Amino acid sequence: MNKYRHIFGPVPSRRFGRSLGVDLSVLKTCTIDCVFCQLGRTTCKTLEQKEYVPIEEVKQELLAWQASGGEADYITLSGSGEPTLHGSFGDILSFIKEQFSTPSVLLTNGTLLYRPEVRASAARADVVKISLSAWDDDSFQRVNRPHESLNLEQCIEGMRAFRQEYAGRIWMEVFLIDGVNSALADVEKIARLIEPIYPDEIQLNTAVRPPAESGVRPVAREHLEQCARLFHPKATVIASFPAHAGGTFKVNQDTILDLLRRRPCTARQMAEVFGMHVNEIAKYTGELMRTGKIRTEYRNADVYFLVRA
Ligand code: SF4
Repeated sequence: MNKYRHIFGPVPSRRFGRSLGVDLSVLKTCTIDCVFCQLGRTTCKTLEQKEYVPIEEVKQELLAWQASGGEADYITLSGSGEPTLHGSFGDILSFIKEQFSTPSVLLTNGTLLYRPEVRASAARADVVKISLSAWDDDSFQRVNRPHESLNLEQCIEGMRAFRQEYAGRIWMEVFLIDGVNSALADVEKIARLIEPIYPDEIQLNTAVRPPAESGVRPVAREHLEQCARLFHPKATVIASFPAHAGGTFKVNQDTILDLLRRRPCTARQMAEVFGMHVNEIAKYTGELMRTGKIRTEYRNADVYFLVRA
């Protein structure tokens, strides 16, 4: 049985190798409610920073993981919502720097970077990956459904200010949805907005995994490749998770339970995450079903596995 409540993995990640996840949120707390979110709809849309989970518990778990011989290529703040909403996310980044030689990554939607104290905390990460998939307030509403007090200009200003103050690596992720923000003219507008943020890398993604809303359709790979050329530096298409990436990862009932605690998944999604055949995943889910640890639920005609409460 997994003994951690706030850390998970390491999970294989195309960009981050073996990435140990640190979850500072409670499902699902975010400043926005992206239609493509793989965690489902935002149930707590807020701009309030507070201690969503006890920070001392997170630190103790990280130390216990380290003491047990845990190894990862990156330690990543991500999980069940927006990590910058946690009032002490900067403390955790400092703690990782002091206690580990492993570089840290902050995955954020960047919407709170207009606040100087959030920028100062975010600057403690070695890599900050920011998402931006809209070009004006109308598209921001359609794609990201932000908190009523947010506007896109304020968010972009925050991202630009962060670049001025931060010497580490910034990666921008642009999520494209067929027929919503994928027209070349619109992608061009996103590209121009990103330019003054001077990201070290730009990544294009699309809805290869089932999103929060059933009408969200992925963009064809050829179109993504075309869009990638509109960015400076040229964007990388990261939409498809490489098969077999999980070959070196130890998968067992606990790692599967660990993943399902973070988000409900289909067997196909788990197979993607772990780089395994879906039949292998079925062996584990069968046993977990038999022992009553997980259950299934139908969503958009797909069968999702969830941890039993
Ligand atoms: S920012 Fe991330 S967690 Fe929040 S709604 Fe969008 S995809 Fe989901």
